[in-house]
Amino acid sequence: MKIIYADNAATTPVSPTARQVLLETMDQVWGNPSSLHTVGQAANEVLQKARQDVAKCLNAQKDREIYFTSGGSESDNQALLTGATLGKKKGKMHIISTAFEHHAVLHSLKRLEKEGFQVTLLDVGKQGIVTPEQVEAAIRPDTCMVSVMFANNEIGTIQPIAEIGAVCRKHGVLFHTDAVQAVGHVPVDVQAMHIDLLSLSAHKFGGPKGVGALYARTGVWLTNLIEGGAQERGKRGGTENVPGIAAMAAALTESCQHMAEVGEKLTVLRDRLIAGLSQIPLTIVNGDTQRRLPGNVNVCFQGIEGESLLLLLDAKGIEASSGSACTSGSLDPSHVLLALGLPHEVAHGSLRLSLGPDITGEDVTYMLAEIRQVVDYLRSISPVWEAIEKGEIHYAV
Ligand SMILES: *Cc1c(COP(=O)(O)O)cnc(C)c1O
Repeated sequence: MKIIYADNAATTPVSPTARQVLLETMDQVWGNPSSLHTVGQAANEVLQKARQDVAKCLNAQKDREIYFTSGGSESDNQALLTGATLGKKKGKMHIISTAFEHHAVLHSLKRLEKEGFQVTLLDVGKQGIVTPEQVEAAIRPDTCMVSVMFANNEIGTIQPIAEIGAVCRKHGVLFHTDAVQAVGHVPVDVQAMHIDLLSLSAHKFGGPKGVGALYARTGVWLTNLIEGGAQERGKRGGTENVPGIAAMAAALTESCQHMAEVGEKLTVLRDRLIAGLSQIPLTIVNGDTQRRLPGNVNVCFQGIEGESLLLLLDAKGIEASSGSACTSGSLDPSHVLLALGLPHEVAHGSLRLSLGPDITGEDVTYMLAEIRQVVDYLRSISPVWEAIEKGEIHYAV
């Protein structure tokens, strides 16, 4: 059976280029970049070249504004800790973020709250978009940081990052964006968008897992999460994952080169999927249909459980998700869908398809037919659906 992998927001396969760089670097450039001898310096060169490549893709002013980390979660943690530490020094202990951030941000905020910080989580509205006006209205004299994700990992909505960045810059407030879903997929320019701190992760754009980066604009003094040696300008101890970092840089460079053409292709297929799925009765499309990642589709089918849907689709070779990979395994509905104002019962029936560059029109045709069939089947055995059809249950959506 052919497998159609439509869960690229959870992780992507390692691209052939990244794989080749990973293996070659592991075999040939195994030195410690901190060693002064030739073998070590060869590794250091690979590291500096990777830093340059990542900086270029983000349009960072300087290579040294890129700090390599173990991935998106670590970068988010370090960014928030940094903003909080800098704020506390000035007696500013208010942080603004949104209700639909990744848990790496939300749980970091929870910890900061326990330490005395006040957190305002902005409403994301029915469309899943935060406005710069909302951010500006929430800024107080004691606000030290704003953290708004670039693109949401479940519903794919893209935030007006440049405008939010401009508001933050105007008020002298540090601006962090979790751009894990955006980097390599849509244009990101840290200078033009007034971004101070940005998180990215390799395995969301064809790189290996367990490696990522934190961009910190010159002048933003990072707080360490990991104390150790002088690696990463003393801001992140530990011998660098040289093969992973080199492979990440290769994957990012490749993604950025093909961004426009892949984006155009995926947008067409995404829109076909959204249009097709919308024809299934009592189906809700989650998030703004235009301002969203080229490969993201997220819908709720009333009267069914997302988990059952996923298992039946898996049996047909369609790999999708309901909510995010991080929350599957728990029975709580997605905090992102609840933030859109959906009732719990409806949020439970969600399906996320996140397309990769290799998807074809035939795959989309197959997915549309199979999803329709599985939804019809699950509804035919669902007592809740029966009640919905009889008009005994009505959800305000
Ligand atoms: C995947 C993801 C993360 C976590 O990245 P890891 O590298 O898996 O730690 C953080 N934020 C968003 C938006 C993500 O999609």
